[in-house]
Amino acid sequence: MPTCQNCHHKWSWKQTFKKSFTLGGGMTCPYCEEKQYITPRTRTRSTIITFIIIALFMLSNLFFGPSYIFFFVIISVLPLFLVTYPFFIELSNKEEPLW
Ligand SMILES: [Zn+2]
Repeated sequence: MPTCQNCHHKWSWKQTFKKSFTLGGGMTCPYCEEKQYITPRTRTRSTIITFIIIALFMLSNLFFGPSYIFFFVIISVLPLFLVTYPFFIELSNKEEPLW
């Protein structure tokens, strides 16, 4: 679970999950009201996971022909990914560039 880099309070899963849907401008800490940003490492990781899922989808189509089975697998894996996402989030006090 992410820890606020300003007040070092641990965010709960629910708080993190709700805040991950806030677009742009970082996320406000529920304890100290300071803005926190997702680290580039976390962003890179979620991009890689997305790419792996898409690649697996393409590969399964290539080997097994177009099938809906994998499509349904993805649909069932997606909520799992969303549920575990807050566990991987790391916070930073500053908005850091990706590279
Ligand atoms: Zn805080």
